[in-house]
Amino acid sequence: MNDLLVMKFGGTSVGSAERMRVAAGIAAEQKARRPVAIVVSAMSKITDLLLDTLRRAEAGDQAGLEANVAKLRERHLATCRELLPPERQEGAAEGIAYLIAEFQRIAGGMLMLNEMPPRSVDEAVAIGERLSALLIAQYLNAQGTPAEAVNAAEIVVTDAVFGNASPLMEPTRAKSRARLLPLLEHGILPVVTGFNGATADGRPTTLGRGGSDFSASILSAALDAAELWIWTDVDGIMSADPRLVPSAVVLHEVTYAEAAELAYNGAKVLHPRTLAPLIEKQIPVWSKNSFAPEKPGTRILPSIGAATGARAVTSLARVALISLQPASPELSGAHVMARALDALDRANVEVLVFSSSSYRQNFCFLVRTEELAKSRQALESALALELAHDYVYPIQVDEQVGLLAVVGEGMQGKPGTAGRIFTAISREKVNIIAIAQGSSELTIAIVVSRDGLEKAVRAVHAECGMGQ
Ligand code: ASP
Ligand code: MG
Repeated sequence: MNDLLVMKFGGTSVGSAERMRVAAGIAAEQKARRPVAIVVSAMSKITDLLLDTLRRAEAGDQAGLEANVAKLRERHLATCRELLPPERQEGAAEGIAYLIAEFQRIAGGMLMLNEMPPRSVDEAVAIGERLSALLIAQYLNAQGTPAEAVNAAEIVVTDAVFGNASPLMEPTRAKSRARLLPLLEHGILPVVTGFNGATADGRPTTLGRGGSDFSASILSAALDAAELWIWTDVDGIMSADPRLVPSAVVLHEVTYAEAAELAYNGAKVLHPRTLAPLIEKQIPVWSKNSFAPEKPGTRILPSIGAATGARAVTSLARVALISLQPASPELSGAHVMARALDALDRANVEVLVFSSSSYRQNFCFLVRTEELAKSRQALESALALELAHDYVYPIQVDEQVGLLAVVGEGMQGKPGTAGRIFTAISREKVNIIAIAQGSSELTIAIVVSRDGLEKAVRAVHAECGMGQ
């Protein structure tokens, strides 16, 4: 379908009856011009509520479970009453009751077993998206825009990495086209759940927290969409986090590569994996604010005309630096590195920065604080023998660090950028602990002491003239 527009609405953009009305209005307006499919997140905070409920179930806290389910029911029923005309409310309320009963059934199982099996978690948390898709589709129909809620478990086929699954594009393409193209051809607007999918044999999965952006890009690629618009609650991709840097500006255009790096290094507007499915077909993306739809937003493209050096700086405060060093010259540092990275990969840990230097082969990697325990465990078991026999020094962990990343395709081949960045940071008397820059020169990642992180971000933003 060559003029198809896919739009994704995030949690705050569907967070209340009023926000759902705005989202549906945007969708209907575009649909008057061309075919549209939308992908929706759960209402804001619902995924957290669902996960909290499952943890309570696992812990045997039945009262907590019931209190949370009551909140879940009340929020959706209240939204239903506020959103829909009276004649549609009963039908929608039945749909809500059905989905909540399904959630309760799964949570009840966890309560009984004192266990949270990952595949059941995925089935249960996707109910947040199924609830919002149901309400929005009902509203669109009530407003005269034919629409149908579609559970992505029917059309997005993934591997079996529960909680952080990856799509299998071939079967996803076949299934999503078979299910959605007939709807589109009949003028029906599909309202697809973000975040979830299922394995080829039908076991429910999710794509990781914040994964609805990724769902939207997967479907855009599968349907050969002309464009993807991602609606959030900020004006677009910015040169820095405006809470840290008041002079930060919205970037009108960024490349796929820049956007992916910014997302990966802490900019919250886009899920880091969003852009990958779009690259092959070069589908352009807009990041837009549903609270200010008249603003232009950021356009994300394969490449942009004039490359302009360092474009944006991001930071991550909740990170930890893990260092390893062989204690015996008999042990090759490269070998230990390979084993360590392999162990982290198997444990599904995201290595944010990796750096190695010096004759003694000390090397370090930066991980998210949430993944520290898992990382340490993976390394300790992979290197158990070496650690026990003192071939490797005990694993060192520094949590008093922060990551700052400077991104811009235009830094390539331009001498002086790194020098200016380091000088700006040192002028603030902030200690630099580790540095990494790949040969693509797209990103300079700098690990600094945690208490100097904000200062360093502001200094780099000013030094590189990013606010202009
Ligand atoms: N609802 C899911 C989450 O909160 C997915 C998303 O919003 O993108 O992680
Ligand atoms: Mg979200």
